[in-house]
Amino acid sequence: MASHYKDILEKAYNKIHLLENEGEIATYIPELANIDPSKLGVHMTNIDGSNFGIGDHLEKFSIQSIAKVLSLALAYKIVGEDLWERVDVEPSGTKFDSLLLLESYKGIPRNPFMNSGAIVICDILISHLDNAKVEFLDFVRDLSDLPELTYSDKIADSEKRTGYRNMALCNFIKSFGNIKNEPAEVIDFYFDMCSLEMTCQQLSKTFTFLANNGHKISDDKKIISKTKSKRINALMLTCGFYDESGEFAFRVGLPGKSGVGGGIVTLYPNNYAIAVWSPKLNEHGNSFRGMELLEDVTTYSELSIF
Ligand code: GLN
Repeated sequence: MASHYKDILEKAYNKIHLLENEGEIATYIPELANIDPSKLGVHMTNIDGSNFGIGDHLEKFSIQSIAKVLSLALAYKIVGEDLWERVDVEPSGTKFDSLLLLESYKGIPRNPFMNSGAIVICDILISHLDNAKVEFLDFVRDLSDLPELTYSDKIADSEKRTGYRNMALCNFIKSFGNIKNEPAEVIDFYFDMCSLEMTCQQLSKTFTFLANNGHKISDDKKIISKTKSKRINALMLTCGFYDESGEFAFRVGLPGKSGVGGGIVTLYPNNYAIAVWSPKLNEHGNSFRGMELLEDVTTYSELSIF
């Protein structure tokens, strides 16, 4: 099985490497503009622990919105189903940083993966933890067995200096009463959370708990329940790529999550997690070559959750 996937990954990587590297780097976070746009890496971790990667798969990058899945997992673990009173579970059909639907839905974000939803999740974590920044990182380090993981202060500071739109989102939601803490504190943690850095290898390993019914693959320790894991995967499928979620499900056919750093993680329940990194983004803010590569992987493997 594993060697079969290795061939598939190599075939997809070699094809994508030759493809024109379309799209644009996310420059609205100044520090992200310094990334080499030619980077391309992919790594797969199977739930039996076997793993392999190609290209720039051992280089750290900013996982950005991919971290929203992990903050959701922690908040969901802490507050359970009450979480859905604060954030909905519907695709938005809008861009990741859109303010549009917040007015209509009175400050309840459509889902936890849009910036607005992830900001509410940060607020919930601050309310329930003594030090959300430290405890969130501890949670990720533990579930991944990667104690070396860290935030990037450089990226976080860059976004803290320029993130006016996210500050607007946070203040706007506060005006509806769906942010309980001080907006400055909430948005600060949100930017720290987004600045988490990982390699493709680390990212694919980190997400195996969602391919393994909420349990760590190393020692079977329960991180979240099977039901919660299933629901987070459903949300990734329907909302993981913002207004391109339908397209990702259509072309790749797996739950996944993208970030403006150019990373995408996708997983096949009871099988594997794959992380890919290529910094240039398409018009929806998702990695152009990342999507192409993952489409090839599921096409070549002829396996799909459908
Ligand atoms: N930190 C980024 C932002 O808030 C995350 C967006 C993303 O990765 N889609 O704008």
